[in-house]
Amino acid sequence: MKQEKQKKHTQNVQRKYCYCGKDRTLTTLNLQCIQCKNWFHVECLKNPKLIVSKTSIVPFMTNYRFTCQLCSPKEIFEKVTASWKDAINAAFANLSVERLRKEGLINKYGHGTSIIPEGYWFDKKDGICPFLDKHWEALCTNRARTPTWWATVGSCMYTSKDNYIAKDEHARSAASEFILSDRDLFNLRPTGQKFKEFYFEN
Ligand SMILES: [Zn+2]
Ligand SMILES: [Zn+2]
Repeated sequence: MKQEKQKKHTQNVQRKYCYCGKDRTLTTLNLQCIQCKNWFHVECLKNPKLIVSKTSIVPFMTNYRFTCQLCSPKEIFEKVTASWKDAINAAFANLSVERLRKEGLINKYGHGTSIIPEGYWFDKKDGICPFLDKHWEALCTNRARTPTWWATVGSCMYTSKDNYIAKDEHARSAASEFILSDRDLFNLRPTGQKFKEFYFEN
């Protein structure tokens, strides 16, 4: 039981993570090691060349496999194809953090509340899709921008009732405003740890 808990390593009581032993942050990317499940600040990586371009990463992305230098002689980082849900979750997280920062609930060091307050609604049109469009390279690795991808995002949110709560739940639609059902940002982590081959959608 105890081991099971440790393995998840989403949060620890001491709030000590990374090589540096400091707390997780909400405004820069923290990478979870596939082996030890510890989290590492991107700015603390031992190999500064591990991440090739800044546009290939964004906080709360989960479409990667990372191994830390405590688990391997060298750090390993590779991108994998994200599900739409992974990409959409990252969009919700970043839009929420942006608003938390504006409201002074997260400071400039990226510390503060990791719980999205009630009422932080975002819709496909003005929130999620523009964010995905802007961070496509980071979040939608190898995905083709099909003419209907906006509709795909909408229907993903609409149908994933376990993941997204609609403001107008009784009249839930692809155009609804949504919030993550698990509002703790620190619970977002790479789940598709099995290596998934790149694939294309029609
Ligand atoms: Zn660190
Ligand atoms: Zn590790």
